[in-house]
Amino acid sequence: MLPSGPTLPGHVLVVGVDGVRFDVLAADSTPSVWALGQAGFLAPVPVDEATPTWSGPCWATIATGTGVAGHGITGNDLTGHRLAEHPDFVTLATRAGLSTLLAVSGWPPLALPEDGGPLFAEATRREFTAVPETGLAWDAARQASRAGLDAWDAADEATTAAAAAILAAEAPRVSFVYLGAVDFAGHATGSGAAYRAALRAADLRVGRLVAAVRSRPSGPEENWTIVVVTDHGHLDEGGHGGREPEVATAWAAAAGRGIRPGAQPLITRQEQVAPLVLAAAGWS
Ligand SMILES: [Zn+2]
Repeated sequence: MLPSGPTLPGHVLVVGVDGVRFDVLAADSTPSVWALGQAGFLAPVPVDEATPTWSGPCWATIATGTGVAGHGITGNDLTGHRLAEHPDFVTLATRAGLSTLLAVSGWPPLALPEDGGPLFAEATRREFTAVPETGLAWDAARQASRAGLDAWDAADEATTAAAAAILAAEAPRVSFVYLGAVDFAGHATGSGAAYRAALRAADLRVGRLVAAVRSRPSGPEENWTIVVVTDHGHLDEGGHGGREPEVATAWAAAAGRGIRPGAQPLITRQEQVAPLVLAAAGWS
């Protein structure tokens, strides 16, 4: 899973940005993600045929390293899951005694006991930023409103600020930071101007999280690996759930001491994220 050569136990930051199409990534539109790709790799990650292209099953596969047949999650209500048998990478790191951070914006079942959650069961530090009136926000009328976009943007901003402060001050060994505004924009407006504006904002936030890591005075010695990953894409008109290439093509970017620039991508399937994270952290 990891590249050849010595890899010391280290620190891992995973940023999950929900609903980002692979074909919108570019040096000018997403410079932070692009820079990680230049420093390591950026690769398409097809959602396999057995996995519905919804957030629940895709994030569950990314978090646990097992597919639907293992974790049992097929939709955005996680009820009936088998996460006890297939824990997420933050929980495994926490149970191994590593310091961990879970910072989630907006979507409760990732972090809270709602809708069958939490997907991420245990963490040393846990930050959740609610989107006000989340139920209303998913109402069709409200989805198209500026207020919904602004509310999700504010939640992502609060999550980023909290996570960046913790990363810079405490350097947890394994962190997962989730940003949801891009996916909301896709649902609300399709993959046009508002989607691309949300993507630009998310990329700037990725850049701030990377900067927080790199602000560590002992940065090189801490042996950081940074992963940015999405769960699925969006149709031109917005929405997901089918097998269209723009929906079923997710992606991952990663860079770190053990990843050579231009190396073969170490993540080409969603199941490969969790083992890479745990190995880079020194637990496997
Ligand atoms: Zn999603």
